[in-house]
Amino acid sequence: MAAVVAVPLAGCLPGPRRKAAEIVDAACVRSWLGEVAARLEAERDFLTQLDAAIGDADHGVNMHRGFTAVMARVGAMEEATPGQLLKTAGRTFVSTVGGAAGPLYGTAFLQAGEALGDATSFGPRLLADALRASLEGVQRVGAAAVGDKTMVDALSPALGAFQLELRMGGSLETATCGAREAAAEGMRATIPLQARKGRASYLGPRSVGHQDPGATSTALMFAALEQAVLADRSQRFAGGARRRGSGT
Ligand code: ADP
Ligand code: MG
Repeated sequence: MAAVVAVPLAGCLPGPRRKAAEIVDAACVRSWLGEVAARLEAERDFLTQLDAAIGDADHGVNMHRGFTAVMARVGAMEEATPGQLLKTAGRTFVSTVGGAAGPLYGTAFLQAGEALGDATSFGPRLLADALRASLEGVQRVGAAAVGDKTMVDALSPALGAFQLELRMGGSLETATCGAREAAAEGMRATIPLQARKGRASYLGPRSVGHQDPGATSTALMFAALEQAVLADRSQRFAGGARRRGSGT
């Protein structure tokens, strides 16, 4: 049975409900992308091992190559809005990553960027819309449902947990924490499943007992999102405030 990626499991402690903590801007999006790139580099071999068991041993390499290109591209963009950053990330992913993950993650980032429009900063509600647009895009392209043993098994529960937390009166922080936990749970829940989509489905029952690589990279992205949000908050509380617009 495949090992499980190290995703922190601390509970979702509500942080101080400061308005400033509700706002995501381009700097926070850049720090999220950078955190994803760093984690993908650290987990590249692990993701590739997972894909070796039920695919063609390239998921870690694909994701790392894609995100290296994304970081080079967004690093060269000055004064970009969060939406522009994510749309650039999506296009870069589509053009540099082949296989299933390229078009699927590329679409997810592009759709999230579209959903954010021209906003220079946004709050958890617009972030929920962007996550929903990502999931819809992934499902439009890949036609996978929850339980098919794909990245949808992490993305869909993460979105559900994020929305639920907001409905319960939670903050950006508790919503991203809930999403990270749900994505990790969804990732682990792929282990006993038989794949019904993608390359792993060719193995039939032999795909059972292995963690899905795409669900694992998706869980990693939600862990990175929580970290970017928390780091952004600590930076501001420490007095390193940047100029901010109002959240939605
Ligand atoms: P490939 O399978 O082409 O080698 P990758 O190895 O980079 O591409 O990505 C494999 C991952 O892509 C799988 O672990 C799965 O999570 C995801 N995936 C494959 N097909 C689909 C699909 N139709 N819908 C959603 N995700 C999919
Ligand atoms: Mg592969």
